[in-house]
Amino acid sequence: MSRRAKIEKHEIRWRGVAVSEGVAAGRVLRIHTGGRGNIYRATLDPDDLKREVRRFQAAVRLSRRQLLAIKRRAEVALGAEHAYIFDAQLLMLEDRKLLDEVEDYIRQECANAEWAVKVASDKLLAVYAEIKDDYLRERSSDIEDVTRRLLVALSGEAQSRRLTEDAIVVAEELLPSSAAELDFSHVRAIASDAGGWTSHTAIIARGLGIPAIVGLRDLYRHARTGDEIVIDAGRGEVVLHPTGATVEHFTEARKLVHAGAGVATDGGGVPLLTTDGVEIILRANVELPPEYEGVRRYGARGIGLFRSEFLFTQRGGAPTEDEQCAAYTEIAALAGADGAKVRLFDLGGDKQHNTGEFETAERNPALGLRAIRYSFQHEDMLRTQVRALMRAAATGRLDVVLPMISDVSEVRRARRIIEEERARLGAEGHATGELKIGAMIEVPAAVMVADQLAREVDFFSLGTNDLVQYLLAVDRSNDEVAGWFRTLHPAVLQSIKRTIEAAGGAGIPAIVCGEMAATPAYALVLVGLGARVLSMAAAAMPRVRRTLARVDAASAREVANLCLDSATADDAEETVRAELGGRWPHLFSPENLPAAKSGE
Ligand code: PEP
Ligand code: MG
Repeated sequence: MSRRAKIEKHEIRWRGVAVSEGVAAGRVLRIHTGGRGNIYRATLDPDDLKREVRRFQAAVRLSRRQLLAIKRRAEVALGAEHAYIFDAQLLMLEDRKLLDEVEDYIRQECANAEWAVKVASDKLLAVYAEIKDDYLRERSSDIEDVTRRLLVALSGEAQSRRLTEDAIVVAEELLPSSAAELDFSHVRAIASDAGGWTSHTAIIARGLGIPAIVGLRDLYRHARTGDEIVIDAGRGEVVLHPTGATVEHFTEARKLVHAGAGVATDGGGVPLLTTDGVEIILRANVELPPEYEGVRRYGARGIGLFRSEFLFTQRGGAPTEDEQCAAYTEIAALAGADGAKVRLFDLGGDKQHNTGEFETAERNPALGLRAIRYSFQHEDMLRTQVRALMRAAATGRLDVVLPMISDVSEVRRARRIIEEERARLGAEGHATGELKIGAMIEVPAAVMVADQLAREVDFFSLGTNDLVQYLLAVDRSNDEVAGWFRTLHPAVLQSIKRTIEAAGGAGIPAIVCGEMAATPAYALVLVGLGARVLSMAAAAMPRVRRTLARVDAASAREVANLCLDSATADDAEETVRAELGGRWPHLFSPENLPAAKSGE
C-alpha cells in the first residue's frame, strides 16, 4: 500500500492510508515512540568505554534539564506544593552513588549505557519492592520514570515538545503516551509509519480535526526534525523536501479543502430526529484535553466514551487518586446533565501507554494482558481508579465502562471491587456518587453471552473497532491487513444486531462508540440495526448529524436487513453503495461513500 518513488533529486514521496481529512504543509517534528521494549545488551570495545560513559553523562544532563523545565511548568500550573513530585526524580539524577554504579558497570562489563542503566534501575527497584512503608514503596514509579527518561535521552531523541507553529508530527506510531505530552495547538498534521483506520494515531487526529496519514512504512527513518514536509490526506500522499512547485500545488489544494470545509456547528443542542421521527443521540468520544472544546462546540449529548488511559502519561506514569479525581470531575462538568461514561484504563496489549513499567513485549499483545485483565492483574491501580471515579461522581454524573469483557464473572468481580471501595470511602468520610456499570462489547464471546451480560450491567458500549478486530482476526493497527478489516462483514453486522437486541431485551441502553459510528454511511446502517445512541469524535458529529437528519429509520432498517442477508462483506458493501446512492443520491454520491476494503 505504501509506495515510494523519487520524483526529483531531493523530493521523496510516500503513499499511505489517509485516516483524517485535510492538507497541511510544515516542518517535521520527529516523535520517538519511547524507550520501551528495545533495551539490548551490547559488548563494547574497551577503546569505546570512555565515550560510552560520556554518552551516559550527557543523557543525565539532558534529563536533568528536562525535569527542571517540567518542574518549573508544574509550579506555574499547579503551585509549588505539587511540583515537589519532580524533586525525588531530580535527586536521583544527582545521586553520585547511583551514577557511579552505572558508570562502573559500563567500564567493568564493557556494556552499553542503556543496559547499564537498566541493570542499576532493576537493582534499585528490587530494593524498593521489599520496603514495607507504602509511601516509600510507591516511589518506585519515580525510579521507573527517571529510567525511561534516561533511555529516551540515550536513544538520541530529545523528546522535545517545543513545537514550532507548523509542526507535522512524524512517528513510527504515535502512541498515546507520546500524544498526551504534545501541545496539539501547534500540530498541523500527523504522519506515521504504522497504523490503520482504527489505530490511536487515527482516532486522535480525527478527534482533533487535523489531517493524518498512516501506513507510511519508512518515512520516520528518512525524515529529520525541521525538514520541510507536506501532507495531503485527500490523495493519501506525503512529500518530504518538497520543491517550490510542489508546495504551491499543495497550497492550492489546501485552499480548496478550507473553502469546502465550512465548519458546521448546526443542530448542536437540538434533538436529532430522522425524517420519520426516531430520535438518535450523538455523544462524544474523548481522549485528550484539546478535544474538550469540540464537545461543547458540536453540542454533544454528554460523553459516550472517555478513554481514561490517556491520563496515564500526563505525569509520566500512573496518575494518583487525587489527580484522577480532578480529571474525572472536569469530565463530568464538561459532560453536564447527560453525563460521561468513563472507561477503566484500557492498558496493555497493543495500547502501549507509559505505564511506568518495563513490561516485556507479549507474543500476541491483542490477545494478552489487556484492558480489564490488566486492571485485575494490577488491582491496586484498579482500586485507585474506581475510588477516584466514585469521589468525582459525587460532583456530577459519571458511569464506568469495563473494557474487553469476555465473561459475566469479570463484571461480577469488578462490581465487587467497586462496592468494597465504596464502603471504604464511606468509612473514610468521603462523599461518593452512584456509578452505573457498563460492559464494552468488543470480544465475540461477549456477543455470544450478551443476554446474560445484559442482566448484569446497566448499559452496553459497543466497541466496533475491537469487535471487527477480534471477530475477523485482523490486527486493527496493521496496514498490511487493512483490506481484511471489513466493517460491513455480515458477521460483524449480525453481532451488532444481536448485542443491540440483547440490550433491548433487558431494557438497558447500547451505545455504539467505535469508529464505525463516525462514518455517515455506516451510522445509517447502525440506525437500521437498531442503534439509537452513537458516540464519536466530536469533530465527526456535524456530518453524521447532517446525514441522519435527512434519512428515515424505516428505510435504514431495510438497507440493514439486506446487508444482514449478504453472504460476503463484498456483497454487503455493494448493497450499501447501491441502496444509499439510489435512495439518497443527494447525500451519498460515490465519492462520499466509504471505499470498499479501505478499512474505513
Ligand atoms: C472500540 O474498540 O471500538 C473502542 C471504542 O475502543 P478502543 O478504540 O479504544 O479500543
Ligand atoms: Mg476497544
